[in-house]
Amino acid sequence: MAKRDYYEVLGVGKSADAKEVKKAYRKLAVKYHPDKNPDNKAAEEKFKEAAEAYEVLSDPNKKARYDRFGHAGMEQGGFSGGRGGMSMDDIFSQFGDIFNDSPFESFFGGRGGRGGGGGGRPKGQKGTNLRIKVALSLEEIANGVTKKIKVKKQTTCTTCSGSGAKDSSSVRTCGTCKGSGYVRQVRSTFLGQMQTTTTCPTCNGGGQEVTVKCVKCQGDGRVYGEEMIEIEIPAGVEEGMQLSMRGKGNKGLKGGPPGDLLINIEEKSHESLAREGMNVIFELYLNFADAALGMSVEVPTLTGKVKIKIPPGTQAGKMFRLKGKGLPSVQSYGTGDQLIHVNIWTPKKVTDEERKLLEKMRGMSNFMPQPNKGDKSFFDRMKDYFA
Ligand SMILES: [Zn+2]
Ligand SMILES: [Zn+2]
Repeated sequence: MAKRDYYEVLGVGKSADAKEVKKAYRKLAVKYHPDKNPDNKAAEEKFKEAAEAYEVLSDPNKKARYDRFGHAGMEQGGFSGGRGGMSMDDIFSQFGDIFNDSPFESFFGGRGGRGGGGGGRPKGQKGTNLRIKVALSLEEIANGVTKKIKVKKQTTCTTCSGSGAKDSSSVRTCGTCKGSGYVRQVRSTFLGQMQTTTTCPTCNGGGQEVTVKCVKCQGDGRVYGEEMIEIEIPAGVEEGMQLSMRGKGNKGLKGGPPGDLLINIEEKSHESLAREGMNVIFELYLNFADAALGMSVEVPTLTGKVKIKIPPGTQAGKMFRLKGKGLPSVQSYGTGDQLIHVNIWTPKKVTDEERKLLEKMRGMSNFMPQPNKGDKSFFDRMKDYFA
């Protein structure tokens, strides 16, 4: 069957603006809404036709393509509503936009209990989300880590396999909804009598009633228990980030899907390294003689000890950089560096012998502090590193 012209479907002119298109579609969506026309195939077709026309004419790009090429322009370029038409799910998900600013929302409320295309039975209650904290060392963050964590949560009752019934003979088809999982209600509105469907209150959408309850879970189908969960944590995460694992939360009620497990990342402080974004910083303390004469020194990094050379005449505040020894970006672009910040250690107490040596040095002109000509100030170096 040839498709009708989208403008004709909505009953608007080619020059109609977005508001007129929306208004025309709303009128048709109300008129042909499946809740108002139960089991009416012709109305459903009209409903879908209008939704498709709206999908195109409400989008300036699609509208322009349609104006130039007609329906042929819609069958290419990834437009889902092309040949096959839109699914009921697509249509209901559009409704948030369309009925947002109108009283229709209250009784259309998106897809409500209709269960998408009307094929499946609405499922019971979704389980609640669980929240846990995971504390990680900088080494774990650097490499990524898989954590096995025992999580206390509502799990399936093993005695009844989640059915809530004592045995297979203590379950019967729900009398309220006759097993469909939802009930229709007729409501009077200013548009006339409207039928809405909601999840059956007796069986919560499961379609079955339990006559004799399971003793262990009292008919809930769930018990409080523990589950060992393996959580893969990507490298580069940081304090305050939240990861989520779908379906690893509390079990749902009466066939409903489980909730999610939300994982909040915490950072353990490292004994010698501090994190600054993707970089890690090590505060190195040298004694005056080593700084003056130069030396080799071992510094800790996230991947073990590394020997670095301190050139003679190294000033306090000098920053050395170990490229790539920092933390990876969680988006997996690039890796930070380790910065080594030089401090000169000044002894707090001295012996008589040391005092004599230091007194001798104090008078020497070579030991007098001088402005560091040609070398950047500490603040300029900091600015460079963190720019
Ligand atoms: Zn029921
Ligand atoms: Zn049970």
